[in-house]
Amino acid sequence: MSTVLVLNSGSSSLKYQLVSPESGEALAVGLVEKIGEPQGILTHEVGDDETTRELPIPDHGEALRLVLGLFDEVGPSLEKAGVVAVGHRVVHGGTDYSQPTVIDDDVVAGIEALVPLAPLHNPANVTGIKVARELLDVPHVAVFDTAFFATLPEPAYTYAIDADVAKEHRIRRYGFHGTSHQYVSERVSQVLGRDDLKQIVLHLGNGASASAVTSGVAVDTSMGLTPLEGLVMGTRSGDLDPAIVFHLNRVAGLDVDQVDNLLNKQSGLKGIAGRNDMREVRSAAEAGDPAALLALAVYRHRLIKYVGAYAAVLGGIDVLTFTAGVGENSAPLRAEVVEALAFLGLAIDPAKNAVRSKEPRVVSPDGHQGPLVMVVPTNEELAIARQSMAAIA
Ligand code: ADP
Repeated sequence: MSTVLVLNSGSSSLKYQLVSPESGEALAVGLVEKIGEPQGILTHEVGDDETTRELPIPDHGEALRLVLGLFDEVGPSLEKAGVVAVGHRVVHGGTDYSQPTVIDDDVVAGIEALVPLAPLHNPANVTGIKVARELLDVPHVAVFDTAFFATLPEPAYTYAIDADVAKEHRIRRYGFHGTSHQYVSERVSQVLGRDDLKQIVLHLGNGASASAVTSGVAVDTSMGLTPLEGLVMGTRSGDLDPAIVFHLNRVAGLDVDQVDNLLNKQSGLKGIAGRNDMREVRSAAEAGDPAALLALAVYRHRLIKYVGAYAAVLGGIDVLTFTAGVGENSAPLRAEVVEALAFLGLAIDPAKNAVRSKEPRVVSPDGHQGPLVMVVPTNEELAIARQSMAAIA
């Protein structure tokens, strides 16, 4: 057996999965949280067995050492599991990295050079890569969240601003969640047995993004220079008038960091309804809370607008697919969005839509003539494991 250890390093967290790229099985799943805080938490799951540790975890090096210790102690043994590579999720690959890349010192320097484009994400990714390379003597592969969108056509990725300024500061649309959009759109093609589809994928998690994909090639996406643009998210505003930023500065007196925090952490569902978790927003709305009702309406309005826009970009639509936490689990949201898009020929079957499953599925009515609606659970870890394996082959 061969396995890949997939690592996703955040500023104060380290998520990991030991995955078999062939079977798709996750042999172990874990999370280290609150790195650098007085009390850290480590959760390591193997099947139904969960091990939890609470102790100070000063840095990512210590976090990974603890994780490797748990693999020795409670299993599965990494040696016996045949780890052949470590796959790192890296948020920003800029225009330099559009393929999974085997990591050497130059690649680490290259990812560090992209920090100005992703100041919140790439530094943590680099830290994770550095400590993992010290502790695990196998090939390491970087899989970039931007890579799938390297194919965007120039009109889709170009912002209408001063061209010299844009060039000097590498300002363009890059797109994120690419590993998920690629995995899901490929699954759709496999399930339907067609590679010539015009697809719109809605990845609706805490972060949320839409993509337009034609014959497997991404042609538009809602996230931009950063993951802030596009759909309404848990705590991010998505699209807004850029002049709001000047207004917040000149009139409300907020500085750049305060605006950054407001738009990334205090906006979206949380900004409107005070809660970023879709389940809580939905139950508050059902209880008649006006702010929650408005948050849901704004969230839906943005989705409907993007699907309409992407149908225009694609010149039609064959499949609309929902994925990630909200997309996979919220049947009411799927029904509301699809019903508003009936003019595109989309329709949803209430009974099929209500079924909960981990399998990809069509939720359009049987015999429906016209574009299909699907629910496809995403699996970024498996996609990273497979891409890492392919990169070292
Ligand atoms: P992340 O972007 O952190 O990976 P997920 O893809 O796990 O996030 O999505 C998290 C979101 O999914 C949360 O807003 C959560 O409320 C939502 N979610 C999970 N289960 C349900 C459900 N049954 N109904 C509605 N929303 C759900």
